[in-house]
Amino acid sequence: MAGEFALIGRHFNWPAPSGFLGVGDDCALVPVSPGHRLAVTTDLLVEGCHFFPDVDPETLGHKALAVNVSDLGAMGARPVACVLGLSLPRVDDVWLDAFARGFRSLADAVGCPLVGGDTTRSMGGIVISVTAMGEVPLQTALKRSAAEPGDDIWVSGTLGGAHVALELLQGKHGSHASLLDDVRPSLERPVPPVLFGASLAGLAHAAIDISDGLLQDLGHILKASKCGADIDYPRLPRHPALVGLDDALVQRAMLNGGDVYQLCFTAAPQVRGRIEELAGRHDVAVHRVGRIREKPGLDVHDSPLPLGPQGFAGFDHFG
Ligand code: ADP
Ligand code: MG
Repeated sequence: MAGEFALIGRHFNWPAPSGFLGVGDDCALVPVSPGHRLAVTTDLLVEGCHFFPDVDPETLGHKALAVNVSDLGAMGARPVACVLGLSLPRVDDVWLDAFARGFRSLADAVGCPLVGGDTTRSMGGIVISVTAMGEVPLQTALKRSAAEPGDDIWVSGTLGGAHVALELLQGKHGSHASLLDDVRPSLERPVPPVLFGASLAGLAHAAIDISDGLLQDLGHILKASKCGADIDYPRLPRHPALVGLDDALVQRAMLNGGDVYQLCFTAAPQVRGRIEELAGRHDVAVHRVGRIREKPGLDVHDSPLPLGPQGFAGFDHFG
């Protein structure tokens, strides 16, 4: 691509922190603390599939990194660095400036410097691939397989906002401008509690970030941990803008709605106070929404509507 190096130099050649080798060589060099493991995660964002073609590029830059660092937090890992693969049909410096600004402000906020990437011309739409790296102390990663019967089930942040925003943008409910204003940031600018997640390593047992819907994502923990769960519907933290909406929509949004990028994690009841203290320190809201049990299955108690046979189904690209 003509101008590839100019593009990288202008938009993505950020100074690397000391001890790192950043953009400009064949590989980046990234330090990892002694006694830690590197946690590595990658996510693709495809135009028309994960984002609307006309989405604000600054929010897109934010989200491209947010969905990745969200996975680090869900593993109990502290961000260390990230790399960015970009495939673009054309070079639009205004668009790239805004994209890089959104990406960088979150990278700075969570301490995840951009140290490399790859840039190519796309024959179709925009494709964004981010790989984020973090570090987690040996033995304390928050694995999906680590839930134990008797554990509390916790959820951070609120549920349902992103799903309602998505349905509104898809035109499913006619126009509700003020509701859309209230829920749109949940979809477009999720703020995953990454550093809170990292602080849970060694304290919580299992964790997952809610990307495909609470029931589906909790289901992954239950399957990996070979146990079941009871969820108390009235305890679920609902996005404040969802009050007064149709029960069926709210229930679907909270239980099955994806794109949340908050944590669902399990921990022994003995550490409740410690978890609340850490959440307060990181300015994250946390709610206890249920309990892990030995008997397999997932029951949601006191929901307004019965759960259908699709009760567990969240988002599945090939479903
Ligand atoms: P190579 O040929 O070794 O793959 P490139 O010419 O593709 O290297 O990239 C040159 C440098 O710019 C590398 O350090 C690479 O990591 C970095 N880079 C390329 N694209 C991006 C990007 N979108 N964001 C950040 N760094 C990038
Ligand atoms: Mg390359």
